[in-house]
Amino acid sequence: MRRNIVKEKLFINGKWIETDTTHKIYNKYTGELFSEVCVADERLVDQAVEAAVYAHKNTLFLPEHRYTVLMRTAELLLESSEEFAKIIAQEGGKPITDAKVEVNRSMSTLKIAADETKKLVGEIIPNYNVPGRFMYTVKKPVGVVAAITPFNFPLNLVVHKVAPALAAGNPVIIKPASDTATTAIKLCKLLEKAGVPNGYVQCVVGSGSTVGEQLLRDERIAHYTFTGSPAVGKHIRKTIGLRKATLELGSNSATIVHSDANVGKAAMRLAKMSFSHAGQICISVQRIFVQESIQEKFLEKFLKEVSLLKVGDPLDPDTVVGPMINESEAKRIEQWVREAKEGGAEILIGGTREGNIFHPTVITNVRKGMKVLDEEVFAPVVTVSTYRTIEEAIELVNDSKYGLQAGIYTSDLNLSYKIPYLLEVGGVVINDTCCYRADQMPYGGVKESGNGKEGPSYAIQDLVETVTVVVNLED
Ligand code: NDP
Repeated sequence: MRRNIVKEKLFINGKWIETDTTHKIYNKYTGELFSEVCVADERLVDQAVEAAVYAHKNTLFLPEHRYTVLMRTAELLLESSEEFAKIIAQEGGKPITDAKVEVNRSMSTLKIAADETKKLVGEIIPNYNVPGRFMYTVKKPVGVVAAITPFNFPLNLVVHKVAPALAAGNPVIIKPASDTATTAIKLCKLLEKAGVPNGYVQCVVGSGSTVGEQLLRDERIAHYTFTGSPAVGKHIRKTIGLRKATLELGSNSATIVHSDANVGKAAMRLAKMSFSHAGQICISVQRIFVQESIQEKFLEKFLKEVSLLKVGDPLDPDTVVGPMINESEAKRIEQWVREAKEGGAEILIGGTREGNIFHPTVITNVRKGMKVLDEEVFAPVVTVSTYRTIEEAIELVNDSKYGLQAGIYTSDLNLSYKIPYLLEVGGVVINDTCCYRADQMPYGGVKESGNGKEGPSYAIQDLVETVTVVVNLED
């Protein structure tokens, strides 16, 4: 039976706006039309910014009200969690089990951000050398925030931007990835129902090169919070001049399996986290470095686990690896794997493509200069290399233009304490893979993986202005 396709409208200044131009979103597994979203033209984007500026200047949105809106949105999300998970699975191609996890995490992100509304305090500055002056700081919202988001976590990564922006008292304009925009529009419906004031949340859909560009060039926007590719991140940095930006970009994240590791546990977890959401996670495991004495044992267990991963329909609860976001991305990684093979790499498992499904692929004998090692694969492909000493492993991890997160499996306590200081990354995970994120933790990378931290209580630091107040106590 054919589904009735509803035209999803834009949310601007508290109203739902229909446009003639639409963007068609397809089910990433079946290829059927999934939804049709209205696309904003230049005039509508301008109206959204105007409404946000107006709200910022004229609409009181007190912390207590922000708290209620965020908590109520979390409750509403709980009531519609099944619906959201199915949307994410269909428009994003994410396996339903992972889509459900994403919805649960989004609820938690909303609640963590709600708590931040109670912590927006300044501080008293010590005046040991300035008698007659009392100094303190207050925190105030930065102003209009633009949230530009990627396709791979179409709900939680939108929430990670919207919720802290609102908690800090800022109006936020969402520019979701066109491929997965239905989820963001549905989130706006919940925020509206939860009572967000007009102009404080708006959603403008359209391509990065049109709507995204217009937002970047609009000087009325005070802060950009972006998650996406390093190329677009660099472009944002160049375009916005002195205005502020939080940039969460890509990586070719690594995990070390040291000689004293629990090899069985490491192999099982690495098999899942190298291929979850078809490797389209910014901290997906891409490079595994195994100490040479345990390589054989590790590979035997790892390849067995990989061979058991179910590939296919995202709506099947047993599926671990679904389709990639589109066929051209699957063809791109097929080409990268072919190039690696031609350069002497060995494919231990996988390497095949059916439409936009790329089968879980493990490659060994890789070397510098190969894209599968040096660039972000953002696909279900992982490389396995060996090292002799831990110093060598650390050098291998750091030999990357990226630095988001790294993992290490070891039972050496001293090494566990030392290694966070030695790895050039924003986060180190001990006895788990690099692909781990809890929503309250500070999260963000170094080098070309971006700058600034997410996690509501860290993100909010960039979303408030610290104003210093000096009171002259002398006559
Ligand atoms: P893209 O960089 O292609 O797109 C991200 C967003 O930016 C989309 O909304 C896109 O719009 C928009 N955009 C594209 N061009 C411009 C432009 N010129 N001006 C303004 N906005 C623009 O990333 P993907 O969606 O493909 O996501 C994958 C990338 O995201 C990977 O590199 C991944 O590592 C990274 N990522 C990082 C995370 C982190 O926390 N560090 C987490 C998740 C993903 P549209 O697509 O509609 O054209």
